[in-house]
Amino acid sequence: MSIYKLVSGILLINFFLGFSQDESTPTEIWSPVPTKINANNFTKAPSDAIILFDGKDFSNWVSQYSNETPKWKINSDGSMSVVNGTGGIKTRESFGSVQLHVEWKTSEGIRNKKPQYNSNSGVFLQQQYELQILDSYQNPTYVNGQAGSIYKQHAPLVNSSKKPGEWQSYDIIFNAPVFDKKKLIKPAFFTVFQNGVLIQNHVKVQGATTNVGLPKYNSHQNMPLVLQDHPSLPLSFRNIWIRKIDN
Ligand code: MG
Repeated sequence: MSIYKLVSGILLINFFLGFSQDESTPTEIWSPVPTKINANNFTKAPSDAIILFDGKDFSNWVSQYSNETPKWKINSDGSMSVVNGTGGIKTRESFGSVQLHVEWKTSEGIRNKKPQYNSNSGVFLQQQYELQILDSYQNPTYVNGQAGSIYKQHAPLVNSSKKPGEWQSYDIIFNAPVFDKKKLIKPAFFTVFQNGVLIQNHVKVQGATTNVGLPKYNSHQNMPLVLQDHPSLPLSFRNIWIRKIDN
C-alpha cells in the first residue's frame, strides 16, 4: 500500500467517524462572517485561452502523485467529478502568473456535520497556493477556510456562494511570486471573482497555504495547477481555461 493510499484511508476514516483535528484549530478564524449576497455569471473562453478541460478528456491533466491518467470521472454533461482517494489532478503544463477560469458544483442533498467535508476541494495555483472550494451556502466554518478564501490566509470579502447543486464560477488573477535563488523578491497576489463578484482584491499571499501551522515560502519555478482531492461529499468541475499573463 502506498503512503498516499494509507493517508487517504486515514482521512476517509476521520471523515466518516468525525474525528477532530485539534492541531489545525489555532489558525482558524471565525469572525467577522462575510456578508451573504446573490450573484450570477459565467464566462466563455476567449480565443487566446488554453483550454484545460472542455468535458471530453483528461489530456491536459495527470494524477497529482503518480503522473498517470487521472482516475476522476468524466460525466455525460461535460463535467468531471472528484473520486475521493485517487489523489488530486494537476496540469501537464507548468504556469507562472495567469488568468484562470474554473466552474464547479457542490453536492445536493445530505450534508456532513463537519463543515469542511461538504464538497471540499481547492484550486492550487503553482501546486501550493490554495483558493478554497467548499459548499459555503449556509454551512458556517472558519471564515478563512470557507469558499473563496485563500486558505487560512484571507477570508473572502463577501459570501457569493450559490446553493448546493448549482454551478459556480471562479475567475482568478494570480501573480506568481518572484525568487532570486532561495530569496523571495516579490510575494504572490490573488484577485478572485466568484460568480462575477470580487471576493479577493489583490491580496498578498504569505506563503504556501497550509492546514497546520503558519505559511512560508519555499522558492520554486513555474509549477502545475492542481485541483484537490479532499475527503468530502461529491464535487464536480467543468469549463476550465487559462491565460498566461505577465507578472
Ligand atoms: Mg480545500
